[in-house]
Amino acid sequence: MVAVSFGCGHGAEQGAAGVVALGRACPLCMLIHETHRSRSELLRKVAPPHRAALARETRIGAEYEWRCGRGHDRYRATVREVLTGTACAKCRANAAGPAAAREAGVPFMNPALRTRTSQTEQRLKALLGERIRLNHRVNSIHIARTFYGRDEVWPDVIVPQLRIAVEYDDPGRSRRAHLGLKEASDLDKDDALREVGWEVIRIRAGGLESLGANSIVCDQLTPLVVHEVVAAMRRIRGDAAVDAIMLAQAAPAGATTMSPEHISSA
Ligand SMILES: [Zn+2]
Ligand SMILES: [Zn+2]
Repeated sequence: MVAVSFGCGHGAEQGAAGVVALGRACPLCMLIHETHRSRSELLRKVAPPHRAALARETRIGAEYEWRCGRGHDRYRATVREVLTGTACAKCRANAAGPAAAREAGVPFMNPALRTRTSQTEQRLKALLGERIRLNHRVNSIHIARTFYGRDEVWPDVIVPQLRIAVEYDDPGRSRRAHLGLKEASDLDKDDALREVGWEVIRIRAGGLESLGANSIVCDQLTPLVVHEVVAAMRRIRGDAAVDAIMLAQAAPAGATTMSPEHISSA
């Protein structure tokens, strides 16, 4: 087997004889990034004797013993299972229980949520916030299953009044290597939201393909794209629901200052 060193510093010692140096992060670092986790979070979960090994682990299929954060028995599982949510059997059973069902679909503020908003996500919020009333006090939605180990998801933009979430996707530098995994998890996330009565509008930029009827394919985020997002909201929930949260718009440059009603009543 060829010894490999990764850009994240994991793997074989860089520069040692016979070691192939790869610029990209190791598979485990990539999955950690994709699932919005950190390695230190994993190290807190693993049984203490395994910490040193997990600290330099590169394989997502490697198996360890873990401690459940809710105090259930220790369990063995692969790092992938822990990151993607099929790990503790008792937690899994609870996630399907009656308390979870009551909360399903309810948006809320998770104060512990690591904020990783990109500039584009902030721009999306700003552009959308010029058109509709956004609620900045929610960042999470309870779902009726687990997604990456949690019974909640964190869409880029949440519009509780419409039960619509808006996501911005582009290939990004670090994600290019495993678009397939990202796409599958995006579809899973959409399904999890749809199950609890939400719809997801996805802006698919930078060459990404449509993921379905509610995808808006574009080169990059522009006001016109945001206009299309609002049009999609109208298609999904109807004009009345969207009008109820529309903000007064300044007339676009070049538009007539008189609306048809004004003209007819003059
Ligand atoms: Zn790594
Ligand atoms: Zn548990």
